Amino acid sequence: MIQLTQLHKSFGELEVLNDVNLQVDKGSTVVIIGPSGSGKTTLLRCVNLLEMPTEGIVEVGASRLVFSTDQQPSKQAILSVRRQTGMVFQNYNLFPHMTVMQNVMEGPLTVLKRSKAEASVIAEELLKKVGLSEKAHQYPHQLSGGQQQRVGIARALAMEPEVVLFDEPTSALDPELVGEVLKVMKEVASEGITMVVVTHEMKFAREVADKVVIMDQGSIVEEGTPSYIFEQSTNTRTRSFLRSLS
Ligand code: ADP
Repeated sequence: MIQLTQLHKSFGELEVLNDVNLQVDKGSTVVIIGPSGSGKTTLLRCVNLLEMPTEGIVEVGASRLVFSTDQQPSKQAILSVRRQTGMVFQNYNLFPHMTVMQNVMEGPLTVLKRSKAEASVIAEELLKKVGLSEKAHQYPHQLSGGQQQRVGIARALAMEPEVVLFDEPTSALDPELVGEVLKVMKEVASEGITMVVVTHEMKFAREVADKVVIMDQGSIVEEGTPSYIFEQSTNTRTRSFLRSLS
């Protein structure tokens, strides 16, 4: 579903991604972990092209985009990748002046050109899925952080994306609200939606990931199943990162 090949990203002189190669299979959940500043968020943003890679190849579904110093993909190719990728942000990024229902309907209405009736059926179904049917007509500020993030997930799913990218979806939440968001993410994963998740929640990585990817200083240190990464890896950088958490 996703293939990144020899991806590089620099911000001016600062090289943030250095030759990243990653494959995400259809229907799988890939969890990216690693020290702060290692490039995890930038990697995610390069997949849906909120950041443009400096060099490399980004493939999402049937789209294949090549970036190099003298080649940039067309606007249309970029839009097609964005259409296939839903994003859940650390700070929810809901529209504050719209109700929960309107937030979820917005993408189907404006991007997918669904009718109001269709968009409203989609939104009702998704709000039921994330357990927020009764909040449909409230505004984001009337909701807890956990509830707002569940709306964020419903909104991403409403775009019928091929893959959903989660950028530290629980880092802004009070600890007691983390569980309800992880529970919804687990359900989404179990439905076979392709997911890439940047998170500090190691329990989620252990239980839900098909593949765990360790990043450090802009590179992928190693990747493997949760049991390999958490129990068997002898890589010094992996071990040192995991030790720093306990
Ligand atoms: P992580 O998600 O692993 O914490 P990030 O991808 O957020 O890492 O950041 C990696 C590095 O890139 C950091 O040094 C950060 O300061 C830098 N960086 C991220 N975004 C920008 C930007 N828009 N401009 C300049 N530097 C950035």
